[in-house]
Amino acid sequence: MCNNFNKKFIDEAAKALQNQDSYDTENHEHFMNEAVKRAIEGMNNNDGGPFGCVIVKDGKIIGKGNNKVTSTNDPTAHAEVTAIRDACKNLNSFQLDGCILYTSCEPCPMCLGAIYWARPEKVYFGSNKTDAANIGFDDAFIYKELPLDYNKRSIPFEQINRDDALKAFQLWQEKEDKTAY
Ligand SMILES: [Zn+2]
Repeated sequence: MCNNFNKKFIDEAAKALQNQDSYDTENHEHFMNEAVKRAIEGMNNNDGGPFGCVIVKDGKIIGKGNNKVTSTNDPTAHAEVTAIRDACKNLNSFQLDGCILYTSCEPCPMCLGAIYWARPEKVYFGSNKTDAANIGFDDAFIYKELPLDYNKRSIPFEQINRDDALKAFQLWQEKEDKTAY
């Protein structure tokens, strides 16, 4: 009796979990298609490159973006960055707690950084960086620059006035009404 009850309970739980899984998968595919839709619409609108992104919280899209580099003369206006800005504005928050980010293509190093700063729960991507490189959007060179010495980078970096710059840090440490993040 007790065993039967347990088995029934476990069977039902397993069934519910399975349904939940298939439901989630459908949802993820739905939201990925929304990201791809943004990519195609933005491109057709001559906003910029063929990249789109949506950000979802509690099953609802709370932020959308597509690449707008060429139309806004903003080299940072990648789909993920524009979507993160939109989502954070709508949430009135500087981070994406409990959010899932769907991007039509694997993020470039800049967007990867932006995603880590925004702290969503998970990222789904459609095409990958090799697919992007195949149509002329190659970000591999940025990954190669990362471990190079400052003066060996294709854009040389040089440190100056460190003591002056550290004053801002000292003031931040002493500031009593700061918003930590
Ligand atoms: Zn990017």
